[in-house]
Order: sequence, then C-alpha cells, then structure tokens
Amino acid sequence: MEKDYYEILGVDRNATDAAIKKAYRKIAKENHPDKNPGNKAAEERFKAAAEAYEVLGDPEKKARYDRFGKEGVGEDVYQREGHFYTENIDDLFNSAFGSFFGGGTRTQAKRGEDLSIKISLNLHEIAHGATKQVLIKRYVSCDTCGGNGSENGLAVETCTPCKGTGTIQRVFETVLGNMIKQGSCQDCSGTGKYVKKNCKDCSGTGRQFKEDQISFRVPSGMVEGMDLTISNKGNVPLRGGVSGNLIVFVKEEQDPFLKREGINICYTLHISFIDATLGCEKEVPTAYGKVLLKIPAGTSSGKVLKMKGKGIIDAAGFGAKGDQLVFVQIWTPQELTKEEKELLLSLKDSLNFQPKPGKHEPSFFDRVKTFFHR
Ligand SMILES: [Zn+2]
Ligand SMILES: [Zn+2]
Repeated sequence: MEKDYYEILGVDRNATDAAIKKAYRKIAKENHPDKNPGNKAAEERFKAAAEAYEVLGDPEKKARYDRFGKEGVGEDVYQREGHFYTENIDDLFNSAFGSFFGGGTRTQAKRGEDLSIKISLNLHEIAHGATKQVLIKRYVSCDTCGGNGSENGLAVETCTPCKGTGTIQRVFETVLGNMIKQGSCQDCSGTGKYVKKNCKDCSGTGRQFKEDQISFRVPSGMVEGMDLTISNKGNVPLRGGVSGNLIVFVKEEQDPFLKREGINICYTLHISFIDATLGCEKEVPTAYGKVLLKIPAGTSSGKVLKMKGKGIIDAAGFGAKGDQLVFVQIWTPQELTKEEKELLLSLKDSLNFQPKPGKHEPSFFDRVKTFFHR
C-alpha cells in the first residue's frame, strides 16, 4: 500500500506547520540527488518527500488532504502543444464546486498573480530530466489569520450589503422596464466577508511576502523556449483565494563538447591516422556519461558513427529518442621528430597508403544530409 504523506515525512497528524517543514527539510537535505549521485532509493525518498510537502506545507491542500486523501490534491504533469502543465484539481474545485467548499454562498474564488522564473538546464539535465529547487519571494497565505486577514482568523462577519454572496444586484429603470444587473460587491471586494478587526501580522491583507523554497520536477527533453507551469506557486490573492501559478522558463546551457541538433547530439572526435587505420576504442562524452566507442579499422576522416539512443527524448513526440552522431576527424600531426619523419617516409610510397576513394563512399556532406533529412 502507498505510504501516507504524514508517514513519508515521519510526523504525526497533529504536527505543527513548523514541525512539518523541519521534517521535510531534513529529508530533502539528506536525500538530495546532488549529494547522492546514482542512489535511486535516495532519489525516491527525495521525490516522495517533495510531493508530501507540496501538500502538507500548504494549509489549503493539507486541509483537503486530511478530508479527502490523495484524490483531493491529485496532480499530474502532462503535455499540451509543447507546454507542460502541472494541472491541479484546485482549478476544478474552484470553478465547478466553489460553492460546495465555501459553504453554499461563496462565489468563484479570486486568483492571485502568476509569477515567473528562469532556470538553466545543462545537457545532462535535459537528457535525464531534473528535480529543481528554487527559492522565490512570493505572497503566501498569512499563518496567523489563515489568509482571511482578520485578527486570529476569527473576527470575520458576513458582509451586510451582499449578504455574503459577494455579488450585488442593481435594478435599473429603463424605457423597456426594470433591468437587473449583477456585479461584484464593492464593500467586500467580492469575498462576501467583512473583517471586523485586521490581523496584525498582515495588516488585514491575509498574505505575507516571504521566501519560499519550491521543488519541482523538470521532465526530460525540455528545450529553450519551452515553459513549465507549477500550479499554485504564484501569489496568494488579497484575503484568501487561489494562488496564481509559477511559470518556469527554460534556458539551455551550451555544452562545451556536445552540440544539440534537435533530438540528436553531435560530437567531433579527433583521432590519429594510426588509430583510424588500425581501429581503436575511444572514450566519448555523452549526455549520459562517458561511453566507449569502437572505431573500426580503416575509418576515413568524415565518417559519422551513430551511438544509438544517446540523444534526447523528443518532448513533442511519443517517447522517440535521438542518437549521438560522432563525426570522426583524423588529426594530422603538426610537428614531427626526425625519427617519426623517417618512419613515415619509409611508408610514403607503400601501395596501401595511396588514396583510392571509391564511388560507393558518400562524401561528408552526403552523410550529414542523410542523417538530418531523413
Ligand atoms: Zn494575517
Ligand atoms: Zn459584500
């Protein structure tokens, strides 16, 4: 059976927000992937803790989780037209069932502003996907009043002019008779509530500007220009409501050796003509670490060797994966000792060293064309 979020963080159900935060930080620190490279179990614990804290660290989500379990906070990352969304059930609840959760008279919840950040991804992170932690400043719900802006969260009364509905109907007399127009109540800004005494910690705004550590998963195959939407990690609106989203823009770091061409990765390998003639094995950098590549005997300069599956997952496709293309370049020595020169001169007129390119050997440009325009 799947572990409960409280079990994952190792706290009991009555733990304070501070205790939950502390427990999460401890697990996240100990199991951070940067500290535990290649440790799958640590990575799983890190991800599970991030998921648990996403919910238990947010008073609104925690309340729903306590009441409805995981179904109340369900989240799923999927892709739509080149953009990734972390769709949250919040939107669904607030658009369709807003009144259900608000106690009958609540209107659609207000929404806070979206925020955006830029993150850099190196080729390794693009290939594998990555779990990123960022520290941002955003408006979060005030802990003291729980976001409604009233002293101790209690001094709230139903707004009189709108009777708590948040909307006001005005009757206009026109030539065609009386017309009713509905609008947002100005006394309570559409919240339906009236705050008798302001919360001291947030001056009645219901929110505080704070540093917030956010952890999220970046799927593999992201490219510069793509963005990721993290639900509810933008600003909380004034006096409660649904948080805006955090939009994460991706910036791609250039790798010094590996050049990305769509889902393929290109690499130029320089070898000596001796290695090219006799054949050899060379360690080649890839987005997945170093890999031994076999260069067959008699390899000509300009030959393209394919390392299958060492490219990038096509984020816009259905799991198609690119290759790494290794362009072999034969390195011609720039300096020679006397002995080296003599050795070469002794081979100079040898028959096998005379170039005999056949018609069947495509040129360098033909090869590149074949690889990219299939
Ligand atoms: Zn407050
Ligand atoms: Zn009102």
